[in-house]
Amino acid sequence: MARINDNYLKLKAGYLFPEIARRVNAFVEENPDAPIIKLGIGDVTEPLPQACRDAMVSAIADMGDRSKFKGYGPEQGYAWLREAIAKHDFQARGCDIDASEIFVSDGSKCDCGNILDILGPDNTIAVTDPVYPVYVDTNVMAGNTGDANEQGEYAGLTYLPISADNSFTAEIPSEKVDLIYLCFPNNPTGAVATKAALQAWVDYARKHGSLLLFDAAYEAFISDPEIPHSIYEIPGARECAIEFRSFSKNAGFTGTRCALTVVPKTLTGKAADGSDVELWKLWNRRQSTKFNGVSYIVQRGAEAVYSEAGQAETRALVSFYMENAKIIREQLTAAGLEVHGGTNAPYVWVKTPAGLSSWDFFDQLLKTCHVVGTPGSGFGAAGEGYFRISAFNSRENVNEAMQRITEKFKV
Ligand SMILES: *Cc1c(COP(=O)(O)O)cnc(C)c1O
Repeated sequence: MARINDNYLKLKAGYLFPEIARRVNAFVEENPDAPIIKLGIGDVTEPLPQACRDAMVSAIADMGDRSKFKGYGPEQGYAWLREAIAKHDFQARGCDIDASEIFVSDGSKCDCGNILDILGPDNTIAVTDPVYPVYVDTNVMAGNTGDANEQGEYAGLTYLPISADNSFTAEIPSEKVDLIYLCFPNNPTGAVATKAALQAWVDYARKHGSLLLFDAAYEAFISDPEIPHSIYEIPGARECAIEFRSFSKNAGFTGTRCALTVVPKTLTGKAADGSDVELWKLWNRRQSTKFNGVSYIVQRGAEAVYSEAGQAETRALVSFYMENAKIIREQLTAAGLEVHGGTNAPYVWVKTPAGLSSWDFFDQLLKTCHVVGTPGSGFGAAGEGYFRISAFNSRENVNEAMQRITEKFKV
């Protein structure tokens, strides 16, 4: 019989969202008329920008025209999209990133996992706690960890607690870590990292020869002009960082699928013989071998994000969600709750009232307000006592949910 990858057996069986679904379903079964509002899962709700849809319709017409038809595209993405990305997302912010360093993909969740293909098995790895679970689970699957303990912490991973005490940007570790996952603006806490905080990470990484894996999926939600959108705004980052970006949250592409990963050509890793190897070459080889590119139609849709109309529409989408976030922040604050995030990110991170555990607050909110959020403890042990509320919903639902919560919890 074929052997399985035993590392999968170490995974805490997809605990968080299935458990939320289980509790919601049980409640709905007993209360079939309860008007549930879900502010839990981080998926967008508003339709795709017209500019993107128009571009995709036109691309479909190309596919029906023998002279414009496209078969396999470049595995790295079409040059016109890579150039638009390099120009608008990086060069316009003073980042020295060339189109050839951008790899278009079908998702940054996928790329966060796939990147482990080009990295060795013996790296020491740090993640924040709480954390986007993909960084942890992909390392478990790759065999880079030991087993999980009671709290779901895996042996072999370094957990860097993020809390109000350190402005939700982790303390720089005192020891050397090879690989560090950073996500700013942060999911789940909604926190951002200042230029100084990111410079400290870049300096650490360069001193120790570490690699930063920087997830900027929410950069479009930054409103504070002092907050960097890209790690490459930080001097030295070309020598130590890979950046993940996505069209999922800024342009509503969660179901359309397009993202990108930046691998600077100046980035190297160590081979077993001690020599330095360009990570760009390995990633290019990996993508050429295991990936056949994003569909032409979707890449045309993504390109339209950079058109004048596309920029206006994506700005409007982001503003819409951020107005939701503002309502959530203000209403919960007025109800006497301690809130974090929600000013440069579409997530509000709420301290549970009266010392309730994350799951007890989840149950109370479900039963008394019929509102679903995400227990902070599901993102890591240090998330205990917190709760994530997502701004991805209709204005009507957000207003209604906040009205219910303020009524029940007002002190
Ligand atoms: C939503 C999200 C992404 C985007 O993932 P895609 O696969 O591009 O949809 C990446 N990182 C984080 C932390 C996210 O929340």
